[in-house]
Amino acid sequence: MADGLEVLVDSDEINEIIERLAAELSEQYEDGVVLVAVLRGSVPFLADLVRAMTIRSAVDFVAITPYTPGTGRVRLLMDVSTDLRDRDVVIIEDIVDTGLTAGFLIGELGRREPKSLSICTLVDRPAGRVVPVELRHVGVVIPDRFVIGYGLDYEGRYRNLRVLAAADLDILHRDPDAYVEELYGA
Ligand code: IMP
Repeated sequence: MADGLEVLVDSDEINEIIERLAAELSEQYEDGVVLVAVLRGSVPFLADLVRAMTIRSAVDFVAITPYTPGTGRVRLLMDVSTDLRDRDVVIIEDIVDTGLTAGFLIGELGRREPKSLSICTLVDRPAGRVVPVELRHVGVVIPDRFVIGYGLDYEGRYRNLRVLAAADLDILHRDPDAYVEELYGA
């Protein structure tokens, strides 16, 4: 494999994670649930998760400003159109790193007075945590490595990989396309 590239979770393991989380959610929210996915990284996760669920599920989306180190500020760019009042709501995240996004959304969506509000994340990287957040449903806990694939990107690339791979950030800073040939054979 190219320098610094390592598959952490292969596609079979991703499928197992999806099945497990879908079963957890289906059992917990028998009366139905609203899944609020955070654009754009959680789209592949949401698409697979919701199709594996066996309960009534509505989906909606939010977009937020990317977290800029040093500012500690997150802002809503696009809001849900669903009325969340008295609904069971689950925030669908690709990865929880600092926890700023998740913490912000808990506050923001909590003001809509949902019946319940929790977080389901595909990836948890506890080493990055700045804000403590309760993660009720977690796909996989990873070490302190930057990851790409299955929704996670570097400058818009690599989201469509079927695996989660650790990548070398220094290499990507120098050349965002560094892993394209290895991963896409082009
Ligand atoms: P937060 O730091 O927990 O607020 O995470 C913010 C967002 O940063 C995540 O939803 C991802 O979109 C992005 N992000 C954090 N870590 C990674 C990574 O390792 N790869 C790709 N995107 C990441």
